[in-house]
Amino acid sequence: MNKKVSILIPCFNEEEGLPLLYEALCGQSGICESLNEYEFEILLINDGSRDRTLDVIKCYAQADARIKYVSLSRNFGKECAMLSGFDYVSGDCMIIMDADLQHPPALIPEMLVYWEQGYEDVYAKRKSRGKESWLRKRFSLAYYSLLQKTSRFDILENVGDFRLLDRKCIEALRAMRESERYTKGMFAWIGFKKREILFEQGDRQTGVSSWRFRDLLNLGIEGITSFTTAPLRFSAIVGFVISMVAFIYMCWVIVKAVVWGDPVAGFPSLMVVILFLGGVQLLSLGILGEYLGRIFNEAKGRPVYLVSETNVEK
Ligand code: UDP
Ligand code: MG
Repeated sequence: MNKKVSILIPCFNEEEGLPLLYEALCGQSGICESLNEYEFEILLINDGSRDRTLDVIKCYAQADARIKYVSLSRNFGKECAMLSGFDYVSGDCMIIMDADLQHPPALIPEMLVYWEQGYEDVYAKRKSRGKESWLRKRFSLAYYSLLQKTSRFDILENVGDFRLLDRKCIEALRAMRESERYTKGMFAWIGFKKREILFEQGDRQTGVSSWRFRDLLNLGIEGITSFTTAPLRFSAIVGFVISMVAFIYMCWVIVKAVVWGDPVAGFPSLMVVILFLGGVQLLSLGILGEYLGRIFNEAKGRPVYLVSETNVEK
C-alpha cells in the first residue's frame, strides 16, 4: 500500500488564492500528480472565512476525492485552525502550508525524501524574510533572541509553520490541548528528529495578510508566556535587587542620623523612589496578571475550536 501524505492548509478569506493553490497541488503538473508513489489527502480548514472560501472548497471537494475540508463555526485564528487539522488528518505524515502560496509546494518532494530517510520533523527555513519593514525585521530578531535565551529549547527564527511532520509528531501535537496556543514553540517542545531545509519565501499571491501589528504583538506575548516563566523570575530579581539597595541606603541613613544628626530634607529623592517603586510594582503585577489570565482561560477547559461541517469521516 502507498504511504498516505496529508497536506494541511488553514484558510481564512482565501477565495482568490484557492484556484492557484489547487492548480499547484492537484493540477495537471501539480505536486500530487508528479509524486504518484504516494496517496495524497488535502485537508483545508475553513477558519470562519467571511468570503466564499467554503463554497470554493466544496466545489473542489465534489470534483476531487482527495480534497477534504473542515469548516469551523467562526474565526478561531490560525493556531486553533491548525489544531483542528491535527485532529482530522489521517496520513502517515502531514505537511502544513499556507493557502497563499508563500510556501512553495515545489519543496514537498525534498521534504518527503528526508522523511523517507527517517527524519520526523522536516521544517523549511526562510533564507530571507521577503518584503518587510526594517522595524518589523529588527523587532522580530530581538524577539527570537530573547525567547531563545529564556526558554530551554530552540524556538527557531525564520521558521514558520511550513513543515512535514511524521505520524508520531502529529500524535504528540494532538495531545497538547491548551487553548492559548503557540504552535511554533510546540514544534520545538515535542522534539523528535529534526531536519532543516532552506527556501526563498515569495510574496503573497493574492489577497492581503490577515496579521496586523496587534495580532503579532499578541502572538509574541503568547510565545513568551506559554513557553517561559522568565518574566516572573525577572520581576522577583528586580524586587530583590531594589530591596538590597534600599537596605544599604537605610543603614547609611541611620548612621548619618546617629553620627551627624539629620535636618529633614530630600523631598525630591523621596518622590523619585516612591514613583519608581510604584512603577516596578505595577509592572510585576501586570506580569503576574498575564500568567493568571492564561491560567483562567485554561481552567475553563473549553474546546479549542468548534466544527460546523466537514466531509471527513472519523
Ligand atoms: N489564517 C487562518 N486564520 C486566521 C488568519 C490566517 O487560518 O485567522 C491562515 C491564512 O489563510 C493563511 C495562513 O493562515 O493560509 C497565513 O496567513 P497570512 O498569509 O495572512 O499570514 P502571513 O503569511 O502574513 O504570516
Ligand atoms: Mg501569508
